[in-house]
Amino acid sequence: MKQSNWDVIIVGAGPTGGRAATHLASLGHSVLMLEEHSEIGRPFQCAGLVTPKALHEVGLYDTVLEEIDGARIHGPGGSLVPVGTDGKLRTYVVCRKKFDQGVVQQAMESGASLWLNSQPRSAETTPEGVTLKIESNGEEMDLKCKLLIGCDGAHSWTRRYFKMGRPKEMMIGFQAEVLGYKGTDRWLEMFSGSEIAPAIESFWSRPNTNSVTSKSRWNYPCKKARSDFRTTQWQEC
Ligand SMILES: Cc1cc2nc3c(=O)[nH]c(=O)nc-3n(C[C@H](O)[C@H](O)[C@H](O)COP(=O)(O)OP(=O)(O)OC[C@H]3O[C@@H](n4cnc5c(N)ncnc54)[C@H](O)[C@@H]3O)c2cc1C
Repeated sequence: MKQSNWDVIIVGAGPTGGRAATHLASLGHSVLMLEEHSEIGRPFQCAGLVTPKALHEVGLYDTVLEEIDGARIHGPGGSLVPVGTDGKLRTYVVCRKKFDQGVVQQAMESGASLWLNSQPRSAETTPEGVTLKIESNGEEMDLKCKLLIGCDGAHSWTRRYFKMGRPKEMMIGFQAEVLGYKGTDRWLEMFSGSEIAPAIESFWSRPNTNSVTSKSRWNYPCKKARSDFRTTQWQEC
């Protein structure tokens, strides 16, 4: 039978949920992570940039795909502003799937539990904590916890359910992987201006490894959602 009383329940097993679970489980609390998907790290919305400080914190150096020294920012009029210094590491690009899985693995090694295919349906605060109705693998069940933490990302159910306000600004975008782009090794390319891509404010890429067959990842923030770019295809690292 599944355990129903927990010290802490964390909604969402991404990097934030996994890291919070690691800390709390290490302090001896019973911790449950609820993840709505059947797998950790899928799907992800991220270019995979992680600062050296953050990577040092989790130590997941085996997830690093590339090292980045800076960004080359291209203005709409053709100006170019490099930010960074050759040979001075500014940030890493990680495989987000492996990174997320590594962070959640650390939480489980610290004693936290993970339930996949599981999400909250309703919640009620009580003097003792929170009672939660969840659906786990198609079955409904009731859980109790002293502390509920929402780590469920930009569209957080927890934030919406407890009416904790809306983000002041939400940027909609899409991400694509392209072949054949030759960037500058160890530098990101960022472009701004509507001329380069109508309806799009700017886009940026992580570099490839100077081979015409290697992939570079492009992120396009745009003012409005573009239904023609919606895709369910997941990226491989
Ligand atoms: C195009 C793009 C590029 C980006 N590039 C970068 C970058 O380079 N570097 C960077 O640091 N950040 C980047 N980000 C932001 C990045 O996605 C977030 O910083 C990061 O994922 C936040 O981690 P998180 O654990 O808080 O949330 P998430 O990674 O979103 O994880 C939330 C988890 O909660 C789960 N979940 C959601 N709702 C529920 C629910 N109701 N029940 C159960 N589980 C639920 C999700 O399945 C997911 O596993 C980018 C975002 C976009 C859109």
